[in-house]
Amino acid sequence: MAKRDPANKTRMVIVGGGAAGLNCAETLRQSNFTGEITVISNEKVLPYDRTLLSKVLATGDASKLSLRESGFMDTADIDYQLGYSVASIDRDGKTVKLSDGSSIPYDKLLLATGGRARVTKNPGSDLKGVHFLRTAADQTAIKEQAKKANNIVVVGGGFISSEVTANLAKTYKGKVSMVCDTNVPMERIFGYDVGAMLLTEHERNGAKVYINRDVMNIKYSGDKDGNVTSVVLENGYELKADLVVVGAGIELNTELAKSAGLDMDPNGGVHTNPFMQTSDSNVFAAGDIASFPSWHTGSNIRIEHWITAQD
Ligand SMILES: Cc1cc2nc3c(=O)[nH]c(=O)nc-3n(C[C@H](O)[C@H](O)[C@H](O)COP(=O)(O)OP(=O)(O)OC[C@H]3O[C@@H](n4cnc5c(N)ncnc54)[C@H](O)[C@@H]3O)c2cc1C
Repeated sequence: MAKRDPANKTRMVIVGGGAAGLNCAETLRQSNFTGEITVISNEKVLPYDRTLLSKVLATGDASKLSLRESGFMDTADIDYQLGYSVASIDRDGKTVKLSDGSSIPYDKLLLATGGRARVTKNPGSDLKGVHFLRTAADQTAIKEQAKKANNIVVVGGGFISSEVTANLAKTYKGKVSMVCDTNVPMERIFGYDVGAMLLTEHERNGAKVYINRDVMNIKYSGDKDGNVTSVVLENGYELKADLVVVGAGIELNTELAKSAGLDMDPNGGVHTNPFMQTSDSNVFAAGDIASFPSWHTGSNIRIEHWITAQD
């Protein structure tokens, strides 16, 4: 891995300190880049394995999921600025502006801003005890509340809600229900037969699964202190709940790219060429937000679609 050369004043700025941001920074050093690398992350912790949050939800310690050992950033001389958000990009002036008003100039910029959990607008979604899972802080909050909960309801029938149901049901036997809007969990991704096996597995773990219930039309009821007390399905059926975990997909953090005027693709991602270069040759995009040419079809796709399209 290359060492930083103080004489090399070229500065790479990376917005987003998740898996994509980290890998870009590390790959630059591995590819003998000796200039300055600044990563700006609005999370307060060094990059961790986000994919494990749902797999270790009930018992895992998020602080142990780091993607690199402590000291790695110093060794690689990567300046990770934690707890800062990039508010805007001035492409003519080649600077990014942070939400605290300060600016950082760049020679090349990488956007790796990922996504956030889609927050459903159902009445009561803002009650205490209704959670969405995307960050280490979310995992810790859900884990702590699950310890005290008597009735846990997982809303959604996709990847994350299935993993959340499986994980919580094994730890909190008989306390977990799942509400999904298809015939079987994950039907849209894997089809009926595989989904039916998953349904059996959830039930074997002690979860009660409510199928064909439109998750967008349910609502949450609360008590006078604003704590969730139940999930009301669209047919009026009420499930007791003191913890609700909603898995309703993600929304891409592409506002920055859009407001900077970069080309976007119809799939919602930031358009890139095969070198992950956006419509501005000084700006690159990677990770969840990037829409890059598929080597199968030549059309631009996002990684999420590529993974789920594999046989
Ligand atoms: C619970 C869970 C389980 C998952 N399981 C799997 C799995 O099994 N397999 C799989 O392939 N994928 C899985 N995923 C998806 C996987 O985590 C993502 O594909 C991956 O994290 C994308 O990496 P990224 O770096 O593009 O984005 P992220 O990991 O989302 O990182 C982006 C970072 O940028 C930050 N950021 C955003 N905007 C700004 C800004 N303006 N300024 C500064 N920082 C900003 C964000 O806060 C975040 O820290 C899972 C996701 C979750 C939430």
